[in-house]
Amino acid sequence: MNGYSEERLLTRDEAVTILQTPDERLGTLIDKAGGLRIKYKGKKVNVQLLTNVRSGNCSQDCAYCAQSCRSSADIEKYRSISDEKLFGDNDLVNEKHLARHCIGLSGISFTDDEVEELADRIRKMKAGGTHICCSIGFLTEKQARMLKDAGLDRINHNLNTSRRYYPSICSTHTYERRIENIRMLKSIGFELCCGGIVGMGETPEDVADMLLDIREIAPQSVPINFLLPIKGTRLGENEPPKLTTEYCTKVLCLARLMMPKADIRCAAGREVYFKGQEETLFRIVDSIFAAGYLTAGGQGIDDTLRLISSLGYEGAVESTDE
Ligand code: SF4
Repeated sequence: MNGYSEERLLTRDEAVTILQTPDERLGTLIDKAGGLRIKYKGKKVNVQLLTNVRSGNCSQDCAYCAQSCRSSADIEKYRSISDEKLFGDNDLVNEKHLARHCIGLSGISFTDDEVEELADRIRKMKAGGTHICCSIGFLTEKQARMLKDAGLDRINHNLNTSRRYYPSICSTHTYERRIENIRMLKSIGFELCCGGIVGMGETPEDVADMLLDIREIAPQSVPINFLLPIKGTRLGENEPPKLTTEYCTKVLCLARLMMPKADIRCAAGREVYFKGQEETLFRIVDSIFAAGYLTAGGQGIDDTLRLISSLGYEGAVESTDE
């Protein structure tokens, strides 16, 4: 913990060293990350609600994903969620003054008609003032502009792991294709959400490399997921990941130290790896999901908001029904 600061970009070696911090020195690391959290984010916590607009039947073979057609996980599959559910969730985001409505669609490519249908639904939700982020495979530039014109604020496209390790978790598309897609989205003015998954068998060097690439992208939001292996997926058949709360904490601290001004989100795995450790967690991250991780369930909105205020933090409002 030798003098790195937000004024000087961390090197790869320093990043790896942080991930290898001895557990007895974790408190010092949290203090450092916590200082940056307060400096740039105050006591705010962004709470997002996630709605899965399309579920399952994806042609890709991402090893962690229950929505891949290679997965035999027992999930609900549908082409398009009902208006009732989508707009009902959107109303909840506004009524509860959550930061954002995240919508996810399984699949890698979409027809222009499908994107136009989605754009119509986004237009309706934007009329209520909701801040919307959409997670959606690979778009053509024309399709990305259709969503931009509909008012979509932000797009999520994760790197998931390092360039080196990517072929071990997916063989049906490349890391480079993800990078190119993100560059295109950035060039047309979207806010970006870009993060990854920890616990898929990667090394600390892979985590550092992924975060270095994310830092270069400079997204507004960095979701870090901690693997919850799902039975029926390739990673669900392996030994469970050897993740400890301490290691997960180091990853989040590293993300904060590398990108102090970004929203650092503890996404999937929060209720498992940080159960009862939320006080420590909020010292580092300023963003969480309220309910639902696509296919893995989550904590309810009211419980989440109560937890935040009981620990002396306040929900950040970006959406409004006013
Ligand atoms: S592309 Fe997305 S939906 Fe498809 S298998 Fe990979 S993570 Fe799952």
